[in-house]
Amino acid sequence: MTAPFKSNQVQNPDGKQGETLNLLRSTQLIIKEAVQKLGYKNEMYELLKEPVRALTVRIPVRMDNGTTKIFTGYRSQHNDAVGPTKGGVRFHPEVNEGEVKALSIWMSLKCGIANLPYGGGKGGIICDPRDMSFGELERLSRGYVRAISQIVGPTKDIPAPDVYTNSQIMAWMMDEYSCLREFDSPGFITGKPLVLGGSQGRETATARGVTICIEKAAKKKDIDLQGAGIVIQGFGNAGSFLAKFMHDLGAKVIGISDAYGALYDPEGLDIDYLLDRRDSFGTVTNLFTNIITNQELLEKECDILVPAAIANQITVQNAHRIKASIVVEAANGPTTLEATKILDEKGVLIVPDILASTGGVTVSYFEWVQNNQGYYWSEEEVAEKLRRVMVDSFETIYQTSRAHQVDMRLAAYMVGIRKTAEASHFRGWV
Ligand code: NAD
Repeated sequence: MTAPFKSNQVQNPDGKQGETLNLLRSTQLIIKEAVQKLGYKNEMYELLKEPVRALTVRIPVRMDNGTTKIFTGYRSQHNDAVGPTKGGVRFHPEVNEGEVKALSIWMSLKCGIANLPYGGGKGGIICDPRDMSFGELERLSRGYVRAISQIVGPTKDIPAPDVYTNSQIMAWMMDEYSCLREFDSPGFITGKPLVLGGSQGRETATARGVTICIEKAAKKKDIDLQGAGIVIQGFGNAGSFLAKFMHDLGAKVIGISDAYGALYDPEGLDIDYLLDRRDSFGTVTNLFTNIITNQELLEKECDILVPAAIANQITVQNAHRIKASIVVEAANGPTTLEATKILDEKGVLIVPDILASTGGVTVSYFEWVQNNQGYYWSEEEVAEKLRRVMVDSFETIYQTSRAHQVDMRLAAYMVGIRKTAEASHFRGWV
């Protein structure tokens, strides 16, 4: 059986189950603060603090050895007042309901920040795709679509890739949905292969958006990107393309990591070599013996630190020891609220996740628009449109943070929640 990804077959040492429930609680705390600062009544907070719809599904999958395994999946739709909900599907052993709900809320915020006509959605399946065959993954992907088919669709809720899902999985999901509905439905899902209606520039979109945020933040902090030291945690879709873009801009990528360890060299790493050798799960450090831990990497000397892997990486335990002047969150939820406060007091400029990683959903929106009109744009057109969205979003949030004397995270929540709140109000919900 051919594996869908090149796997290096190593043990999975990923995060802790309990922490992700806190993601929902800490999201609710900032939502409350943002709603109050914007002058909305408490009813608005009551509406926005939880998804309007969340489904748990059980998916039976025939495994290659003849047994049947039952997987648990989730789909959460935070708020559909603005339009259909939108957000990725994560395949990961640590997926849980609280995390999926929090991620769907963040998608509403990202869509609000980028001014997209969507609410937020998110999905996930508890599984480890690194231990599954091509056929098992296809049956799981198709089973998930059948299980959630009643609440998703091109004008209801549009999935996309996220951690450990890719364009092949999107293609299977799109095909399954098209079979169920008996018509071709490219607009059902984004992040598809180009031949199935994918958009130019989707694969690199998140990293491109993060790059634009880094350029803007470096200017605000008077840091010259030429020769600036960059550390990136995570070498998957977001982290690896970002390393390439930073390298091409003349910055020095001095640290990278994956789930199994980290590489650090103050003279700069050979990014082209690492890109060539990484597998499709974003694993590369297992080819080296001189590795350090992810936690050691985060505390290394650098100008700009980019967490681009998983949640809860910068906490009260290590925030005091972070040496970067700028932290740009490519990952969702890498910094806890307490750690945000510590970094803020140290004068570190944090570009929050819901701003920094908005490039992905923005180009997903472009893909959906192109699918709906059946007319496709060049890579340059996509890149230019994305740049405009990212630059405007960064400036709006930066100015909001200055005007209200709040950190960039709260400013991003204020900007992000406004559209959903207004749409909910006009619809007469609150
Ligand atoms: P990916 O699956 O392509 O790569 C994940 C990377 O993180 C891999 O290098 C993996 O080895 C590493 N990793 C996994 N567990 C780790 C751990 N415990 N410690 C350190 N590293 C670990 O995923 P991606 O698409 O690059 O997403 C990375 C982050 O960016 C996620 O938080 C995701 O939600 C966020 N994000 C991604 C997109 C996108 O379009 N890809 C968009 C918005 C946000």
